[in-house]
Amino acid sequence: MTRETEAAPGFITHPLLAELGIDHGFGTRSAQAPENLRRPHQVHGSAVVQAGAIDPSAPQDADAVVSDDPALPVGVITADCVPILVASASGAVVVAIHAGWRGLAQGVVAAGVRALIGLAGSRDGSVGVIGPSIGRCCYEVDAPVMDPLRERFGSALSEAAVLSRPGHHRLDLGQLVKVDLVRSGIARERVGLVDRGCTACDPERFHSYRRDGALAGRLIHYARPRALSGAGEPGPGPLRLDSSGAGF
Ligand SMILES: [Zn+2]
Repeated sequence: MTRETEAAPGFITHPLLAELGIDHGFGTRSAQAPENLRRPHQVHGSAVVQAGAIDPSAPQDADAVVSDDPALPVGVITADCVPILVASASGAVVVAIHAGWRGLAQGVVAAGVRALIGLAGSRDGSVGVIGPSIGRCCYEVDAPVMDPLRERFGSALSEAAVLSRPGHHRLDLGQLVKVDLVRSGIARERVGLVDRGCTACDPERFHSYRRDGALAGRLIHYARPRALSGAGEPGPGPLRLDSSGAGF
């Protein structure tokens, strides 16, 4: 496993993305969203939207956002769910994905990777990095969660879930994301995991919906496509982060 480094204030970066020259980060509590960020209105589904199609004042419903425009970094927000940043081999295309159990059951990870490959033209050399989320230590689920996940993941679900008491399992969402990234065609050695701890266990660094309830803050995660042909610096633009959304 590769190790992460702390770069921009409040953001955790990962070598797999840094080596591609991609400006990115998984946010802790103090992280501030970059200018011109495009992110969707998250609804725990599997829709993917293109950055250029997002109206920042009224973002579309989606849980993944793809960009090939260095002027338009893309991001998602979380509070316990899994943030995922995926990049093409050149770094010219990136996708940010928000995955909780509902999105995982609906295939949001695969949908996001498909959109990236569609824009990049190839899956070869793509990298995917899994950010901080609630850990198995704090995430107990019951049959209404396990059943739809079993339909999608089959026996791989057994490796991510541990029986905690009758009818309940402790579930590692990040492990399921890894399964889907690899199934989507990203080489296992090109899948990274930030050394993340657990959002619910670490109030110093992370917001957590399970811990803090409806008033929990949100963590911001982003990636910016790499400029391959010396494109100009992105200009300033409106930044809107609504904390009322369903994204967590
Ligand atoms: Zn925990």
